[in-house]
Amino acid sequence: MLGFGLQILLQPSELWNMAREITPPAMVYFEPGEAKDCPIRPELTIGRKYYGDQLYQLQHNPTAFGEKLAHDAIASARTNGIQYWVGPTESPVASPEDCARLVACEKARAEILNANGLKAVVFYLSVGWPLEDVATHKLLTGQFDTFLRYLPTQNLIGLNEYFYPTGPLHPDSYDPYRPSRIWRFKHWTGIDRHKIFITECGMDIGGNQKTDGWKKQCPVGMSLEQWFDTYVEWMSEYLALISQDDRVIGAAWFCGGPGHGWQDYDVLPNWRQARHLLEGPVPEVPPIVIPPSGKTIRVKLKSSDIVALPVEEYLRGVVPAEAYPNWDMDALKAQAVWGRSVALARIEKPRSDSHDIDNRDQIYNSAKVNSRTDQAVRETRGVYVVQDREVMYASYVSDCGRPDCPMCEGPPGYITTNNPTGEWPGRACQWGAWYLSEHGADWRYISLFYYEDDVTLSDEINQEPGTNPGETEHEMFDYRYWIDKFIASPGYNDATDKGVIVTHIANADARVIGVHVLSPRENTFDSHVLLAVVDAAGTPVANSVVDWKWEGMHGDEVAHPVHLDKIDPEPPGNLWMSWGMTVTVEVAGMPSDNVSGLHTRHVPTEPGNNKEGHFSYFVVWQIGGDPVPVPVPPIPVPPVPVPAPGNLEEIIGAVEDVQDGIDDVYDLLLAMRG
Ligand SMILES: [Zn+2]
Repeated sequence: MLGFGLQILLQPSELWNMAREITPPAMVYFEPGEAKDCPIRPELTIGRKYYGDQLYQLQHNPTAFGEKLAHDAIASARTNGIQYWVGPTESPVASPEDCARLVACEKARAEILNANGLKAVVFYLSVGWPLEDVATHKLLTGQFDTFLRYLPTQNLIGLNEYFYPTGPLHPDSYDPYRPSRIWRFKHWTGIDRHKIFITECGMDIGGNQKTDGWKKQCPVGMSLEQWFDTYVEWMSEYLALISQDDRVIGAAWFCGGPGHGWQDYDVLPNWRQARHLLEGPVPEVPPIVIPPSGKTIRVKLKSSDIVALPVEEYLRGVVPAEAYPNWDMDALKAQAVWGRSVALARIEKPRSDSHDIDNRDQIYNSAKVNSRTDQAVRETRGVYVVQDREVMYASYVSDCGRPDCPMCEGPPGYITTNNPTGEWPGRACQWGAWYLSEHGADWRYISLFYYEDDVTLSDEINQEPGTNPGETEHEMFDYRYWIDKFIASPGYNDATDKGVIVTHIANADARVIGVHVLSPRENTFDSHVLLAVVDAAGTPVANSVVDWKWEGMHGDEVAHPVHLDKIDPEPPGNLWMSWGMTVTVEVAGMPSDNVSGLHTRHVPTEPGNNKEGHFSYFVVWQIGGDPVPVPVPPIPVPPVPVPAPGNLEEIIGAVEDVQDGIDDVYDLLLAMRG
């Protein structure tokens, strides 16, 4: 199947903006006159025009109407380039006469479109048509089949496939007047030559949007969030079903537009879930079996049965039930770490005498086991969140609503009856994890991001007291020690072999006096640039701010300045670097030396905390100290051109060039003298 896209009516900018975030492989839209401004270029775009008098035209002038539709489409295609065009919108075909008139219209339309190099999507039939003989389950398609026998196969067949809240695969998915089930066209043997495009599906809209929209169908006792998840799950089921039919090349989820009430269905707040539907199914890869090991957990299933599983095996069913398997691997790994922490904490503190954990803690669903989530479990094997030297019950929620969450940016997050504000302090955020991973954060960082500063990951510290890296004074990173060392020997840089470069600026007020790459023992900071701005005596200067940037920054990306306001024994400031970043730093608000080439992608040379992706640095500037000796750059000597003999003007020009060059060098030397 080509894929799944959106049908957007008219030009609601919010819908466009949402759709811009995805790459829908297929899409239909109304009013193609505006389509030339459409910011999205899907693989298949289908043009559609709406005619208020289409019923009258179909009944009185079906052939002339088909010709008019074709000519209007051709005129539009000249400006917007759309190749495929639908005809009358869901025209009723309740009798053989209706069928004959629609066929006459479509025949005329397709012939003209084809003659002009364009293609027709014919029929655009609503759910329930063609009519079905309920007794024999035969579709009454006689006129359609005759027409299709002669229609060139470059044209497509358009069918709508809405479904109702009993789910797309339920046999009673439709009311008695629309007697066929979803995927009813599998009974339509006459459509074996043409490809089918599902022009509309889902349940956003029906004859009466206010009652048929998905929001109105929310079952009692289910939150809209849960309902949307169910709805998306059904849509996935439906897509899986139509994918089995190689006649179907794609489908468009109906989203609506201004005047069509799409706003009433809360598409916008649920857009993030919907994206995963639109971006297509996760590729199937055979699952990898994780050998059981470690602790066993007693899990109470939805059926109330209790099963005992190795924790790692249990997690294989938790991660895909709690996160989308097509998420970035770092988000899935963070989910695995949280899930493992919750599981281990529950073993310490069981739910009841008979079981440790159930779906109130986190969802377990072995049917969802998936190779990508298996990978996340495997590659974080055994790692959990530690607080006060004990496993932490790492609470998380789909949308945390926390102001410090880069995804939620404040309430409301996940709303429940008990938490109507939707703010969840102390909980990690699953969508936040997704967001952080999309922005390059690694799973270790994500795993700890939402919790207190004193948490750590179990494999990063030795649990035996007295043996943790940094617990003896000479091994602990001591920023004051390093500041003293830099003041004693300004220009110190032990990170040159890491490609870190200090650039001294003439007349800088803030001079770099030292750069240090943290040793494997010192680096309990993971992947940070630790920062300090000090005065002549080595005391940190209050209210200092450091500006930074990374290589390849886009114009719309912002590096927020780092305020150096941390309190002893922490160094005054720190800046986290993600895997891909190569960072440059300088002091804000004054002429400043800068340090560039800071990144974490180094291969460790000894055991400890320095691993690929985990290196930290300490950079110190001094204001008002003795100037750092600046190496004198080689003085450029301007080349003296040899003019052709006899050309006096050229000789004078050349001498002037040399004079200018000497002046430049003279200015440079004066500037260096200060
Ligand atoms: Zn959040």
